[in-house]
Amino acid sequence: MKKKYIFVTGGVTSSLGKGIISASLGLLLKAVGYKVTIQKFDPYLNIDPGTMSPYEHGECYVTEDGAETDLDLGHYERFLGISTSQDNNVTTGRIYNNVISKERKGEFLGKTVQVIPHITDEIKNSFYKIGKNNSFEIIITEIGGCIGDIESLPFFEAVRQAKLDLKKSDFLNIHLTLIPYLSTSGELKTKPTQHSVKKLLEAGIQPDILVCRSEHKLGKEIKNKLALFCNVSKNSVIESIDAESIYDVPVLMREERLHEIVLENLNIKKKKPLRLSRWKRFLSNLHMSENKLKIAIIGKYVSLQDSYKSISESLIHAGANQNSKVDIQWILSEELKTQNLKKKLKNIDGIIVAPGFGVRGIEGKILAIEYVRKNKIPFFGICLGMQCACIEFSRNVLGYEIANSTEFDRETNHPVIDLMQEQKKIKNKGGTMRLGSYECFLEKGTQIYNSYKSTEIHERHRHRYEFNNSYKSEFNDHGMKTPGINPKLNLVETIELDDHPWFIGTQYHPEYRSRVLKPHPLFVSFVNKIKSIKNG
Ligand code: GLN
Repeated sequence: MKKKYIFVTGGVTSSLGKGIISASLGLLLKAVGYKVTIQKFDPYLNIDPGTMSPYEHGECYVTEDGAETDLDLGHYERFLGISTSQDNNVTTGRIYNNVISKERKGEFLGKTVQVIPHITDEIKNSFYKIGKNNSFEIIITEIGGCIGDIESLPFFEAVRQAKLDLKKSDFLNIHLTLIPYLSTSGELKTKPTQHSVKKLLEAGIQPDILVCRSEHKLGKEIKNKLALFCNVSKNSVIESIDAESIYDVPVLMREERLHEIVLENLNIKKKKPLRLSRWKRFLSNLHMSENKLKIAIIGKYVSLQDSYKSISESLIHAGANQNSKVDIQWILSEELKTQNLKKKLKNIDGIIVAPGFGVRGIEGKILAIEYVRKNKIPFFGICLGMQCACIEFSRNVLGYEIANSTEFDRETNHPVIDLMQEQKKIKNKGGTMRLGSYECFLEKGTQIYNSYKSTEIHERHRHRYEFNNSYKSEFNDHGMKTPGINPKLNLVETIELDDHPWFIGTQYHPEYRSRVLKPHPLFVSFVNKIKSIKNG
């Protein structure tokens, strides 16, 4: 079969959910038997989002191969149950970087290097690179940003050219827009979509399918009007109504027959009947669950909850698996003080201390950890969260009052968390952390082993600092175990307390591996413990 390319573009405004629509379509196409992958092209100049604050961009998602990527890749992995890689996320920065290094090597000798054709060729090569991998039949490409943005222009130009490169039935454009509702006149308005399609036509792209985000049902009349003005066939105007959960979207898209229209356009047939029974079972658990569990996420970026997207989604997956509704309480770490701690953590059934960088909010996290350690409230520390648990333990149990991470106090006499040896010589900030999947061995009979039921696991990392092995035996002797070890580098990957119902810290990020249909065992075990404590 020839590779099929679907380009998902957006108009009217950003944040309409191109990632969720792409992931939902990917899921439906996979369910009818196709091998699908999704890639995202982002128009900014950073080589990757690794150097951005979460406030700029939400979470930085890390792939198996250690790429720091856009959070939409998390949705792709969670919906489709696939693993993505560096090739699935390309930015303008990466494109220019590639072209400029080729120019320096002399690959364009004699030529003037220009946006068209050199930049657009590089973009197209990146579009097709993933398609060269024989494991995929359909490649969905999401173009970040909106039509009309100056910075996205070369991407749209490359999409236009791709249409010429590919056979008609191998190329498809789905354009996602907004149909706003004017409450004063009680009307849905099509004009912004008409303008957005005009802009797309100016770039030389005629959309094949329109997906229209809307608060209300569109109705036949509006759909027909959109079809007429935007030059698409009537059955190719799809409504995407606001949903209770992002996980409802695949079912709504199925009802709108999005996958059928896509298959017709690509001139291919279903390989097997579409069944979403497992997905629907997940949805009914998600919507019916009665046990309400209050789990706090303590972090410094909580005012933008997208900063912790994979963690909150992992809790949703694990909650549905455990017939429980997880009610996430967002707590800003720097607001936690001795005086208000009890009040802030009142009625909380479990806490997650989130990953992060920099000293702001650290002392609040440490106070919260002391509280849940002493009050036997389930605790899950992820990356920086684990490091804070080690600092708390050394200060309050081992009695080293000034213990710290050298990230926050370079001169501390008790650096329980310290820079890895190989990190000490690194100067550049971009892409230089310990990134991607590493092996970890778990000791049998421990809390962490009981969660995974395996002695050998692989988890993804994103950090520079590590547990300092010179404190290991002292920790172990005083009740803090270190049962998860990286076998090659002898690094501590997990910690846990002997005398506590559920107190686990991981240097790695388990949240990147949770899937809708395969919730992560650690999150499941955490939610299960909270549920059983709550239900007595
Ligand atoms: N700042 C810490 C480090 O670099 C933790 C990073 C994280 O939580 N991802 O090691």
